[in-house]
Amino acid sequence: MAGPSPLVLCGPSGVGKSTLLKKMLEKYAKHFGFSVSHTTRKPREGEENGKAYHFVTKEAMEAAISQGEFIEHAVFAGNMYGTSKAAVETVRNKGLICILDIDLQGVMSIKKTDLNPKYIFIKPPSITELETRLKARGTETEVSLQRRLEAAKTDLEYAEKPGYFDLVITNDDLNAAYDSLEKYITEVYKLTQS
Ligand code: ADP
Ligand code: 5GP
Repeated sequence: MAGPSPLVLCGPSGVGKSTLLKKMLEKYAKHFGFSVSHTTRKPREGEENGKAYHFVTKEAMEAAISQGEFIEHAVFAGNMYGTSKAAVETVRNKGLICILDIDLQGVMSIKKTDLNPKYIFIKPPSITELETRLKARGTETEVSLQRRLEAAKTDLEYAEKPGYFDLVITNDDLNAAYDSLEKYITEVYKLTQS
């Protein structure tokens, strides 16, 4: 695919990916666009359809997948998630660098495509802190909380594999984590202005 490399953000649910991305997109809106994924999970309070996700039924999602509309898709914590070709094209057609917030299965699938993104992993200071953040966010049931913590353990093993991600950032202090992210994107994408 032509154009600048997309940017993939991966990391356990609750680590702070959306928080970091929001900060980054506010400042660098001229450069980056968010790939809006599809999901079968229910919207959280404040999540707008078409902005956070395209919220769809399992049937609609399965039909779209069988029509070949997705670059990658996965089941995470009991719900389906996927990046449609249209989601990435919409961003690229605007001349923007495409940002994908996807899980580890998504990363594994994208690595087999010609998308050639940069891969950043966001790591929690500890699993205990991750659990605290997920609970404080107030979005999970006990079951979905446990599923997310379970997935986090596998994610963290991959984060340790040398070269699997281009950059691993620990989101302990939010401002320090954001500074590392900003330093990386300004260098890689040669951004001189916001
Ligand atoms: P993700 O998008 O990775 O699932 P969120 O961005 O929703 O995670 O963050 C999960 C929760 O943790 C949110 O309530 C957010 O405000 C909080 N959070 C994010 N970064 C930090 C941080 N560095 N320290 C403490 N809490 C944080
Ligand atoms: P959440 O339900 O907390 O919004 O997201 C749960 C997980 O799904 C997160 O790790 C997020 O990165 C991942 N995710 C979101 N969209 C996609 C997608 O399109 N594909 C894949 N594989 N994972 C996604």
